[in-house]
Amino acid sequence: MTEVTQLRPGIWQISLPFQGEHDIIGAYLLADGGEIALIDPGPGSTSEALLDGIRQAGFDPARVTHLLATHIHLDHTGGIGTLLHTMPEARVLVHSKGASHLINPDKLITSSARIYGERMQELWGSIDPVPEHNVQIINDGDVLTIAQRRLEVHYTPGHASHHIIFFDVHSGDLFAGDVAGVRLQGVDYVRPPTPPPDLDIEAWSASIDTLKRLRPDVLYLAHFGPTSTPIPHLEHLREKLYSWGDFVLHAMRDGLSEGAIIDRLIEHVQPELKRVSSEERTLKRYEIATNYAMTVQGYMRYWRKRHPERLQP
Ligand SMILES: [Zn+2]
Repeated sequence: MTEVTQLRPGIWQISLPFQGEHDIIGAYLLADGGEIALIDPGPGSTSEALLDGIRQAGFDPARVTHLLATHIHLDHTGGIGTLLHTMPEARVLVHSKGASHLINPDKLITSSARIYGERMQELWGSIDPVPEHNVQIINDGDVLTIAQRRLEVHYTPGHASHHIIFFDVHSGDLFAGDVAGVRLQGVDYVRPPTPPPDLDIEAWSASIDTLKRLRPDVLYLAHFGPTSTPIPHLEHLREKLYSWGDFVLHAMRDGLSEGAIIDRLIEHVQPELKRVSSEERTLKRYEIATNYAMTVQGYMRYWRKRHPERLQP
């Protein structure tokens, strides 16, 4: 059953049940003045749950007017093509660098299949192409007027080269996608989701500065929920982003295989996480939100591609 929470006037959080767990993947619904927008509506595997969530919030899914993508990773927007069968008029707003992957998802499917293998269908469901006429390309500096809000678009690469955030200057609400990291509710621990192929530590750190400069009141994370202490949260993320990167770099210099580096990172990190949450279930939930294998693969590719000089012993 989908869980829906009204967070503020005009903002709902829809928790999409994923791998049997709640509060790991969240979409945000904005509604006012006859417009209904969804930010990061989620993967195809949870499309029915999302439609159910829209109804629970009191709206007709067929009347959704906008689908906003912070970036086009499958857990955020893989289901858009499928959703458009129900809401054919919805405009899909996506950064210029991500648009082609929604219109023709073949490359995205191939690169995701390298990470997820046989579990593709189970995890992400169907990944239908998005008709080009639904797509509206947006870029850094654009200001959108949607559901009676003015939403600024800011380009925030690092996690993905096509990542943007949506910022409501008047309310201080900032819809952060994955650039503000992963922090499950009730746990004081921010984990950097660092998938291949785009990970760029320097760009991500600059994006963290962009977010700080906006002075948001609330960060709305896709994984998961709002956080009202943006500055310490973002610094916590930056510290982990760099320290995990160094950890993987040193392990690569030691000549370890990918599998051995994954094991070593788990050994290094799990005690930290256990200190902030004694529940075994929390470890599993973080792993569902952003797994260690993907984390290590992202860092390894980053070091090889961007800083091969640092791999010399
Ligand atoms: Zn992502």
